[in-house]
Amino acid sequence: MVVLVTGANGQLGQSLHYIATNYPELHLVFCSSSDLDITDSEHCETVFSKTNPDYCINAAAYTAVDKAESEPEKAHLINVVGARNLAEVCQKHNTVLLHISTDFVFDGDKKTPYKEDDIPNPTGVYGQTKLDGEKAIEAVFEKYYIIRTSWVYSQFGNNFMKTMLRLASERDALSVVNDQIGTPTNAVDLAGALISIILSNKNAFGIYNFSNEGQCSWYDFAKEIFEINKVKIDLKPIPTTSYPTPAKRPPYSVLDKTKINSTFEIEIKNWEESLKMTSL
Ligand code: NDP
Repeated sequence: MVVLVTGANGQLGQSLHYIATNYPELHLVFCSSSDLDITDSEHCETVFSKTNPDYCINAAAYTAVDKAESEPEKAHLINVVGARNLAEVCQKHNTVLLHISTDFVFDGDKKTPYKEDDIPNPTGVYGQTKLDGEKAIEAVFEKYYIIRTSWVYSQFGNNFMKTMLRLASERDALSVVNDQIGTPTNAVDLAGALISIILSNKNAFGIYNFSNEGQCSWYDFAKEIFEINKVKIDLKPIPTTSYPTPAKRPPYSVLDKTKINSTFEIEIKNWEESLKMTSL
């Protein structure tokens, strides 16, 4: 089975690469943004004609949440036009598309975990383009899995965990918001879940949530990162109002994993357990 991975140099792309050798039955073809620019439909067609994939994992995205507020056209091009191009080329080549979306499609006003059929209401450009990307795929064909995830970190690329460790090496004290609640997701666990979906061969297409289990604030997440890595730092909890950002964040974005769990019997680790297993 041939699985084409777009955005291979990103966090998720590298995490898929990291676990690929565990699955000798799959032939994973990794395409960086220069191997395959998803905004270029002819480029998509050329690569699909050459590789003829059974599955395509779209790990490519515009992910700069705050920058998106000042460059909405670029975010739209990658997250919406790119997603549509992939859906169209997948439809043509009878390829199943696994596309990654985000908790930022929700406004965060709920007080209980978000289910797949809760009404999205993004509050920023990034979330809006990710939601529009989902809709663009749904408008093209039915053979898609859209997996919404949250707070992705890993030993690869840029993420909150690596930023915290870098800042701690430069400063004696740090302030982190403690009134935004969500769940960290180890990109390696997300990569494993995507492979499980492919190997299940269930064709239970649709939208699914995936993150690690449990919930915490960014402050709790930072505290755990420092404890695990034995970093001594004066860490202070602060409200969101003390850390204004160009894009508004959802105050609560815990995702309900019942659907993915029951459909594919994916065992999901608690976020703290998974963080402990992340080696730098
Ligand atoms: P990264 O930002 O680490 O990686 C994104 C990758 O997409 C980069 O390697 C980038 O390539 C590539 N890319 C950008 N534009 C194009 C293009 N036109 N054609 C092909 N590739 C392109 O993202 P993550 O791995 O963190 O995110 C994976 C998915 O998870 C995304 O869909 C994201 O929206 C979603 N998500 C992420 C969260 C997070 O906290 N990071 C939270 C929730 C959801 P290059 O390096 O060359 O620029």
